[in-house]
Amino acid sequence: MFKKVPGTRDILPEEISYWQKIETTARKVFSLYNYKEIRTPVIEEAALFSRSLGEFAEIVKKQMFLIKNKEDSYVLRPEGTASIVRAYLESNLDKIRRFSKFYYIGPMFRLERPQKGRQRQFHHIGAEALGSSSAGVDVEMIMIADALLKAYGVAGYSLKINTLGCAKDKKSLVGLLRKELKGKLTGLCQECKERFKHNIIRILDCKKDGCRKIVGSLSIQDKYLCGDCKEHFQQVTRGLDAGEVSYEVSRQLVRGLDYYTRTVFEFKHEGLGAQDALGAGGRYDNLVKDLGGPQIGAVGFAFGVERLLLVGDLKKNELRNSLVFLISLGDRAREKGLKLLDRLRSCGIAADTDYENRSLKAAMRLANDLQSKLVLILGDNELEKNIVILKDMGNGQQEEIATREVVNKIKERLI
Ligand code: AMP
Repeated sequence: MFKKVPGTRDILPEEISYWQKIETTARKVFSLYNYKEIRTPVIEEAALFSRSLGEFAEIVKKQMFLIKNKEDSYVLRPEGTASIVRAYLESNLDKIRRFSKFYYIGPMFRLERPQKGRQRQFHHIGAEALGSSSAGVDVEMIMIADALLKAYGVAGYSLKINTLGCAKDKKSLVGLLRKELKGKLTGLCQECKERFKHNIIRILDCKKDGCRKIVGSLSIQDKYLCGDCKEHFQQVTRGLDAGEVSYEVSRQLVRGLDYYTRTVFEFKHEGLGAQDALGAGGRYDNLVKDLGGPQIGAVGFAFGVERLLLVGDLKKNELRNSLVFLISLGDRAREKGLKLLDRLRSCGIAADTDYENRSLKAAMRLANDLQSKLVLILGDNELEKNIVILKDMGNGQQEEIATREVVNKIKERLI
């Protein structure tokens, strides 16, 4: 028997109502902020990501799902931002509506060692606002992320924010880190020794105790920031204060990707264990230009859906709870029953039936298994009298209703 690929999951019908709820809620929240959905292909040119994320980013170095044939080198997308910038430029949206706000929902792929909270195929819900450098957009982005978590009933999460500064400031940060870390290399983990050469900023958020101790002893604070970037960050924190969003400024928060500049942020949840990041994002003011477009600012974030599902409080089975189950007893009733089912469905009522001629008792058991809210029973007796029996599975009460009243009566009960 075939097995699914390690690090992937089947989302079975029992679970799907949660996913649907996550997605419909996201669509509602994004539309409140006037973000429009965008869908890009799951395969892209590999170079799109090495160019934008940076060739020394962990994702590019170790986690790309490459698809190679004779001429091309494609990759299963590891994240959404670079694809969206590509689509924005390829469709000339920068010329039509320079300031554009997008959201996306879909699978991402990273060749990681599978573990709890870490898969090879996972799903992002994210947003990107392209065409503005205003701190107000950073604030809006963080507020949307916060609104999503509230809408999902996630409690006990925390938000950390930081600023990496502009490209020049990031270079100063690299210089300062080189100077301060040079004499402390032996205390760093093997990975951070490697990072020292090509991805030194990443040492700041290494989780290993030894590295954290060394990072804690550095005296960098915000020395690398220019006046404009300091001011931009102050505007962001003031905006969050005004919006009553709680946050903590953490100078150790950096993102692993080259494209980030200025604001970066991360939402964490203790309940997730080692992989505690629910979602993250930040500003990327040079990426549009780096991918061949104009020099315009942009900011975005993404949540991992699998992790939202672990900590969210999504009321179960909303869809199944509105199911009406029809039990038809006898050939004639079955024929009429199919018409009735059709009528219910065309009136927007989710309905199902037993196609196996089960006894009343067995069919009731099936209706119960399917967590039907209402059951309709139609036999010869009922046909004679032009009625159906309507049973409420919640309280067990049943009543006879005229066939022509069925739709109205059911709608009243489903409200
Ligand atoms: P990133 O693009 O790495 O900042 O990821 C944003 C969010 O996606 C993370 O905070 C996680 O919630 C989720 N995520 C990233 N990688 C994985 C993975 N391999 N498996 C499951 N979720 C992931």
